[in-house]
Amino acid sequence: MQVVSSPQLISEILVLAQKNGNSIGLVPTMGALHEGHLSLIRKSKEQNSITVVSIFVNRFQFNDLEDFNNYPRPFEQDQELLSKEGVDIVFSPSEDEMYPETPLVGVNFGIMAETMEGKFRSGHFEGVGLVVTKLLNHIRPDKTYFGMKDLQQFLLVSRLVKDFSFSTEIVGLPIKREENGLAMSSRNERLSSHGKDLASGIFRGLKLALGKISNGSSIRETKLEVLAFYKETKELEVEYLEFVNTNDLSAYPEDSVPKKLAICVAIYVEGIRLIDNIYLRQD
Ligand code: AMP
Repeated sequence: MQVVSSPQLISEILVLAQKNGNSIGLVPTMGALHEGHLSLIRKSKEQNSITVVSIFVNRFQFNDLEDFNNYPRPFEQDQELLSKEGVDIVFSPSEDEMYPETPLVGVNFGIMAETMEGKFRSGHFEGVGLVVTKLLNHIRPDKTYFGMKDLQQFLLVSRLVKDFSFSTEIVGLPIKREENGLAMSSRNERLSSHGKDLASGIFRGLKLALGKISNGSSIRETKLEVLAFYKETKELEVEYLEFVNTNDLSAYPEDSVPKKLAICVAIYVEGIRLIDNIYLRQD
């Protein structure tokens, strides 16, 4: 496994590899790897001859400096894991290598970034747009793998690639969960074991929504019921709970159920912000 930090070097290596007929899969991460990340890596290995995993904690997508500083960075442990998985190249640039100058130009995701993560984490998606654009340009992958855990990110990046004509295919993969239903996340490390138990309630709320919508309840009624469910556990502090049209995140009439519908939540447990979602309808 090669570990490369220079963007120029990785471009050179991969241009040559592509010339020699290799296909390239990219899995962008911020490290602190878990089974969720590994599921993306395994799919990339299945579908490409070379798999590149990027590890870069991107300052520009954090709206909270404390969150950025506290973000786990177990680099050696990550490398061991990636080497065991048979990853070909780890791309882990320093901040100066990634951003030799403070960027002046940004990606504007328009209305798609006005809700949920975009609304509560000001500037988050501008940071994501910036780093994804740079990674796609440095690596030029045939396929790029994202988890549906960050559903809004997946939808925005898919649209970025389409609207800006990047020549990569965005592949979205299902959420990996702990046995108790908690969506795997690097942030779970910061929860106590009691916190992890409490946080398992997040998924139960989402499944409640799935049951209600499947039985023909309206979105309005379902929303009230799920909010009431979360309120029963005072340690679950809901930041947002949104039903979204996953076609383009556009608004829909209050009482009609769109063809592609998901429920997305951000909930604080022990001061840690966790996000999760579940598809309620997919055509
Ligand atoms: P992160 O390191 O948190 O930026 O995540 C890197 C990639 O892994 C993103 O595409 C995430 O959506 C994906 N990911 C994170 N957690 C999970 C999970 N539990 N299941 C599937 N994919 C995940």
